[in-house]
Amino acid sequence: METKKYQAVVVGAGPGGYPCAIRLAQLGVKTLCVEREFWGGVCLNVGCIPSKALITAGKRLQDIHTAATMGIQVSGEATLDVAAMMAWKNGIVKRLTGGVQKLLEGNGVDRLMGTARLVGPGVLEVMNDEGTTRVEAAHIVLATGSRPVEIPGFAFSDPRVLDSTKALDISEVPHRAVVIGGGYIGLELGTALAKFGSRVTVVEFMDQLLPGFDPDVVKVISRKLKRSKIAVKLKSKALGWEEGDSGALVTIETPKGTETLETDAILVTVGRRPNTEDLGLEDLGVELDGRFIAIDEQCRTNVAGLYAIGDVAGQPMLAHKATHEGELVAEVIAGRAVEDQARTVPAVVFTDPEIATAGLMEHEARDRGLEIKVGKVPFAAVGRSLTTNETTGFVKVVVDAADDRVLGVTIVGAHASDLISECALAIEMDAEAMDIGMTIHPHPTLAEGVMEAAKAALGEAIHVLN
Ligand code: FAD
Repeated sequence: METKKYQAVVVGAGPGGYPCAIRLAQLGVKTLCVEREFWGGVCLNVGCIPSKALITAGKRLQDIHTAATMGIQVSGEATLDVAAMMAWKNGIVKRLTGGVQKLLEGNGVDRLMGTARLVGPGVLEVMNDEGTTRVEAAHIVLATGSRPVEIPGFAFSDPRVLDSTKALDISEVPHRAVVIGGGYIGLELGTALAKFGSRVTVVEFMDQLLPGFDPDVVKVISRKLKRSKIAVKLKSKALGWEEGDSGALVTIETPKGTETLETDAILVTVGRRPNTEDLGLEDLGVELDGRFIAIDEQCRTNVAGLYAIGDVAGQPMLAHKATHEGELVAEVIAGRAVEDQARTVPAVVFTDPEIATAGLMEHEARDRGLEIKVGKVPFAAVGRSLTTNETTGFVKVVVDAADDRVLGVTIVGAHASDLISECALAIEMDAEAMDIGMTIHPHPTLAEGVMEAAKAALGEAIHVLN
């Protein structure tokens, strides 16, 4: 068996692994990156990027259908060519994943396609079609990510049942779709399907969609789903399904009794499970924290020289959290005295409208017993929102009543994803509400809503009554 020696090996080339490997090489560490399936990981191939492409296509189609509001007359009907849309989406994925390989190469990272397994401290075996390679390294970073959770009775191998990966590669739009799981992935994909023309029903086990999110935000989203004719079944459990005469028959248990939903496709989005199996963790005595690999503030596991980052190393399972940890652990391996001191991992849900949060949501602050002041400004009071014809939603700024420091910002509305970074920066810099409020924001922009909500938290807003 061939043996290769490196200073560092990164297992997995997702948004955790590939930036980690690049940063290691930049810091002068001889690095190998091992990937078993696709460069760029879930995020670039079957996650963030393809889903956002399809969501945008759905939104564009809807914008054309509603263009008459702005006096734009479209002659003929706007229709969807699914194959062309998928080709466009696949082109984006190809471009980005090709870019990842070029960046790894350009930075001097060696690449190896294959499945890696730990066989001892500092030793991996990598298997591919050509055989097995033994790789030795003082530092090994596990960035193996996660995969969709399957539920009993809904096997992903069945053509009727879709996980998120299959949903991102449909060849035709199902007339009807049942989405099991009202978390962010289910709502994002369910909304896109509805915009493509599917009649969608979302089945959620808990008593609200997007469990854990600010109830005010969920109200806005729920109202919009209703207007988009997406049915929602809360406190409901999918029990199983069978083939009927004209579609699949999904049985669900609701507070009112058992119901049957007839559908063409069943999308299961009940969560994701970290890829910890078959890595040799047990033999090395690697400690777990629940299902995740347990790590400290430097992403070290309990085994010397072994690190874990991204989805495999804990919540939140988000691409930018994986990247942050990947770059951090590279610095740690290079001998720099750094640790994870991030105050917030902002989160975005690409529903219609979008949701974005940084720091504490109002209910979280109250649950912690904090004395807070809250400023809330509807987008209907922000001039730019009217000019884009997207007035749904609000910005909510939560500040510490004692010293006016910004504790959190929650936004629901168009382009919330692009507005939240200013808020994350404010939280990282320990800003006071007036630091945002007195920063001159260009007019007319949606960001004025953030400025105004910061002032509203102090009772000093101009464009809403305090
Ligand atoms: P991954 O991206 O899962 O990459 C892990 C890599 O490791 C994979 O390429 C895998 O093949 C490889 N691997 C695993 N085991 C081995 C092994 N033994 N040997 C070699 N290679 C191995 N997050 C966001 O922040 N924003 C979004 O908008 C967003 N949208 C999403 C939409 C969908 C539909 C899905 C499914 C996810 C979405 N996510 C989003 C989540 C995001 O994709 C993940 O948080 C992110 O990809 C995690 O990065 P990672 O590097 O930890 O793991």
